[in-house]
Amino acid sequence: MTTPSTAAPPDKVESFIGGAWVGETRGHCLEVLNPATAQPVALLQEADPAEVHRAVINARQAFDAGPWPRMDINDRKDILYRIRDRLRAHAGELADLEVLNAGIPHHHVQGQVLRMTRNCEFFAEVASTLRGESYTQSAGFLTWVTREPRGVAALISPWNAPLALSSMRVASCIAFGNTCVLKPSEYTPLAVARMVELMHECGLPPGVVNLVNGRGSITGEALVSEPGIDMVAFTGGTDTGRRVMASAAARLKPSLLELGGKSANIIHEDADLERALDGALLGIFSNNGQQCLAGSRILVQRRIAEDFISRFAERTRRIRVGDPMSPDTEVGPLCFQSHLERVLGYVDLARQEGCELLAGGARDWSAGAGFYMQPTALLAPSNSLRACQEEIFGPVAILQVYDSLQEAIALANDSRFGLVCYLWSASLDAAMQVSRSVRAGTIWINTPMMRELRAPFGGYKDSGIGRDGPQSSAEFFTELKTTTVPLDPPPLRPLGRH
Ligand code: NDP
Repeated sequence: MTTPSTAAPPDKVESFIGGAWVGETRGHCLEVLNPATAQPVALLQEADPAEVHRAVINARQAFDAGPWPRMDINDRKDILYRIRDRLRAHAGELADLEVLNAGIPHHHVQGQVLRMTRNCEFFAEVASTLRGESYTQSAGFLTWVTREPRGVAALISPWNAPLALSSMRVASCIAFGNTCVLKPSEYTPLAVARMVELMHECGLPPGVVNLVNGRGSITGEALVSEPGIDMVAFTGGTDTGRRVMASAAARLKPSLLELGGKSANIIHEDADLERALDGALLGIFSNNGQQCLAGSRILVQRRIAEDFISRFAERTRRIRVGDPMSPDTEVGPLCFQSHLERVLGYVDLARQEGCELLAGGARDWSAGAGFYMQPTALLAPSNSLRACQEEIFGPVAILQVYDSLQEAIALANDSRFGLVCYLWSASLDAAMQVSRSVRAGTIWINTPMMRELRAPFGGYKDSGIGRDGPQSSAEFFTELKTTTVPLDPPPLRPLGRH
């Protein structure tokens, strides 16, 4: 990759294997677009199955014979801290590349870049405090249990928050001494490629982090079906996750799946309505509405519904859509053309299903030729509609009205997903009821999107299997080993001596 000194994108993104850019031109090439202009900004050289195999072989060698898994934890930690500092020093450049390629507003990307650096330091600390167990209860024996790195990981990440999500996967994997092959989305390779390059300027041994780029159906499938992989950690859509898990399971490889959501945001009648309104708008429209943890089903108690819904619609109409580089922009373009069409298709479907259009609903040409869409609000007559059951993954809020908190909880649970649930209420009793009864991995009460890195994050039901978090990541990315020694030579029955 040509290294940009500023946020200028490279001409071409290719694989990074064994500590170096591959530097070959063969096979399929894809255009990388700027979603704000719909214009190409770089080319992506797709890794075919042979190149993916090479990446896995390099990761395998780095694991089986390289220094990384055997390194003193303090030295490994030093490298992760150097990576943290280097990424931080290049935060502006990385943020600009991310905005250019993913269309996420700049102010929002800054938080994600900070998250990327926090992921490195956080998992360095977690790995350095990893503990084992020992057992002395059996007379004459000492048994101890150690955690060892599991091996070579296939890491697959989506396009909606490339740096934050790819760094989460990489940091939680390599901190425990594993090596990996990372495949980001074909739509958003730019900032992640630069991140991987910067990581290698900090003393990361070659082969510990390898990068392959390309379409999920080619590069992604080749990666998850590689025999040299020991585990798969995947962040993406539920249907893809199901295929990835089936492929890993066929070879008895464990998989960690962070998948989609259709989360309820319950606005109870006793909520601080100003804050609930701000929180509900942020919950659905931040990151251009493209977030797994979006509060995309907004459930409003009937007594406050008319007022809340009309104010929500009014604020939705006033959201500033535009160039994601501009500090004034609140919602940028969607990531790519076919995704925009898919999201607009859901708006049409929702209207055919009987939803009332309250705001937006169309492509927004006023912001330019990019993949812009008006932030949209729809009022749904029933939770059984496809618009209420399927993940739209765009700036589309579906509002519904409920009477009792029990009904709101039932609506929240009436979903195949279970990633998060939001509640806005002043009542401790309501908070306890929602916390106890909603089947979701995270419950946010009177706050939108507080991602506590120290706590597990992941989904119930179709929202995933496994969790990110200090303990759960350690469990996924390490193997347990039990070793027993006698304190004195134990008596052995002398078989065959007579
Ligand atoms: P996809 O499932 O389409 O893609 C995710 C990744 O998998 C991409 O890198 C994609 O490559 C790759 N991929 C696609 N097909 C295959 C395959 N057959 N084998 C291996 N890899 C494949 O999801 P999106 O990129 O559209 O991301 C959006 C989804 O991610 C949403 O459902 C969202 O909710 C979920 N998500 C979940 C999060 C969580 O923490 N629970 C966080 C963020 C997003 P390519 O794009 O190049 O085709």
